[in-house]
Amino acid sequence: MTVYCLGSINADVTYRVARLARPGETIVAQEMRRGLGGKGANQSVAAARAGARVVHIGMVGAEGDWCVAELASYGVECRHVAQDAGPSGHAIIHVDAKGENVITVFAGANARQDLARIDAALGQAGPGDWLLLQNETSHQQEAAQLAQVRGVQVAYSAAPFEAEALRRVLPYVSLLLLNEGEFVALGAAGIALPADCATLVTQGAAGAEWRQGEARLQQRGFAVEAVDSTGAGDCFAGYVVAGLEAGRGPEEAMALAAAAAALSVTRPGAAGAVPDRAEVERFLS
Ligand code: ATP
Repeated sequence: MTVYCLGSINADVTYRVARLARPGETIVAQEMRRGLGGKGANQSVAAARAGARVVHIGMVGAEGDWCVAELASYGVECRHVAQDAGPSGHAIIHVDAKGENVITVFAGANARQDLARIDAALGQAGPGDWLLLQNETSHQQEAAQLAQVRGVQVAYSAAPFEAEALRRVLPYVSLLLLNEGEFVALGAAGIALPADCATLVTQGAAGAEWRQGEARLQQRGFAVEAVDSTGAGDCFAGYVVAGLEAGRGPEEAMALAAAAAALSVTRPGAAGAVPDRAEVERFLS
């Protein structure tokens, strides 16, 4: 069984600052790092580190070779990642002394996905497989539709939140992943969820809640010393979908995801901060 991820791939540039700048202010960074990012790449890495077979579908620009090489180095299959001559997606990230972040993302090649490639990749997929999507690429709805036709379950991480994008994809989604801010935005937009769609709301250090109809499952957060929360939500998303794809129930999948995400916030970076399953199991034991 496989987790397919149509997802963004970004070159992340992270600046460590004492505190986040206010509008009009200039702050001198204490450190700069470049690394693989993008919600899609982060979620693929997390699902692969959780033990799933992961096929990433995506697009990078002319300078994106190193991003694909790094994604592949985590065990993510990248033969459906294409390259074109335009600019790659990238993100400028500021992280303060408390681990809070502010992020500016430029979509670049992530907005230039190729539908024929998505169709070819999902041509191998079937029941038992999952498709993981985020709102950082083009062609989300078409991919979700192709997946549903093949009996593939669709998980959608509604980030960055955009009501129209969510409305288009929602009829095909069986698991909607939101953080607390996105959950509030969902309510404010008056979006009604299909009866069979489960919602997983992550609540930062407090943990996460699974909501399906009237049913609620609460997963507590694990107490750790947070250094950098960048990508915690993506770590959680990749881990939870990998758990469900492996046949675990929501409670067990959430416990693994919360432990993995807690470990990830104790280290700087996004993809590079995701622990593997063995480390998560040691942490839980
Ligand atoms: P980000 O945008 O920083 O990637 P997010 O807003 O999408 O994160 P959060 O709800 O902040 O997502 O975090 C996702 C999950 O990570 C939480 O459900 C929790 O399990 C874990 N987590 C986040 N912050 C902490 C923390 N300080 N301590 C322990 N666990 C945490």
